Amino acid sequence: MRPLQMVDTKNQYLKIKPEVDAAVLAVMESSQFIGGKVVNDFAAGLAAYNGSKHCIPCANGTDALQIAMMALGLEPGDEVITPSFTYIATVEVAALLRIKPIFVEVDARTFCIDPEAIEKAITPKTKAIVPVHLYGHAANMEQIMAIAAKHGLFVIEDNAQAIGCDYRFSDGRVKKTGSIGHIGCTSFYPSKNLGAFGDGGAIFTDDDQLADMLKMIASHGQSKRYYHDVVGCNSRLDAIQAAILNIKLKHLDEYIAARQKAADHYDKAFANHPKITVPFRDPGSTHVFHQYTLILEGVDRDGLNQFLADNGVPSMIYYPVPAHRQKMFDAFGGSSYELPVTDWLTERVISLPIHTELDDEQQDFIAGKVLEFVNR
Ligand SMILES: *Cc1c(COP(=O)(O)O)cnc(C)c1O
Repeated sequence: MRPLQMVDTKNQYLKIKPEVDAAVLAVMESSQFIGGKVVNDFAAGLAAYNGSKHCIPCANGTDALQIAMMALGLEPGDEVITPSFTYIATVEVAALLRIKPIFVEVDARTFCIDPEAIEKAITPKTKAIVPVHLYGHAANMEQIMAIAAKHGLFVIEDNAQAIGCDYRFSDGRVKKTGSIGHIGCTSFYPSKNLGAFGDGGAIFTDDDQLADMLKMIASHGQSKRYYHDVVGCNSRLDAIQAAILNIKLKHLDEYIAARQKAADHYDKAFANHPKITVPFRDPGSTHVFHQYTLILEGVDRDGLNQFLADNGVPSMIYYPVPAHRQKMFDAFGGSSYELPVTDWLTERVISLPIHTELDDEQQDFIAGKVLEFVNR
């Protein structure tokens, strides 16, 4: 059996190596390392894929979220509503800008922000909602957009884990996550579903004015070279990364299908197990399985994590401490929150290896080890 890894970027690369190597060499030959045609082509290709009018590439997913909040004019003292059950970047950027993150619960089935909890958390200071499409499953965007419209709030989608996910509205319309809110943000961190060979990120919007502002902020607040209209930052996607991403974008749907196939395989192995809940899938929308995350009941979760490690099976707890319990947020009253669903999930989730290169033999071994521990 091939060795087990949480993600296998190496074998994925080997399948497209000639194309990728040629594209990287071409950038080196051109010496156009920053900006230029390769970056512009990628941005145009990804905008089209996502069904968004504009795609603004940037240096990473965290920057994408920060630039989004800056472009919307969020200011110190404003509040943004976000889940606590997420990766830290989602809320860290708000804190960095002295915007107050207001942590709310997630839906225990989807792991994504609970729309009812959003409504309850709205105050006169609320400016934006930041849903996270965690693990590759879409948040309930229909309800979130309705709440935002009712209260005049912005929606920034954290789509770092769900690029390519199709979200279906109740009227049958289908849109990609990251193209539904006022702004969508994503990451090309190597292990993400559309991963670069280094850092990268992108911001999406359909709004022309907002697109200009996002571009300006990502480039030192410049309206034209050496004319700085607003305070910005320096956040660029390298041409070499764009060249690689241009090739991988063509394979993204096939990568998603491979992840879904692997998820189906695990689902079968764990079907109807009284102690294991497999990932929920919304019937209308797709799940792009950035992670394959189980909820365990009546199982020593940390014991399983260790047992798997001892048997050569990697597994991860995403995330061992929810955002509101991080020391970083003490100053924002983090410890005063009571989020029982978030705490409940934090104690019970475990993510198994999922990527485009998993084979049946590997998956059977992984599932076998999980069941060996859970059933004893
Ligand atoms: C990866 C990730 C980010 C940050 O992306 P980087 O490119 O690592 O900065 C933000 N939010 C979520 C949910 C993520 O998974």
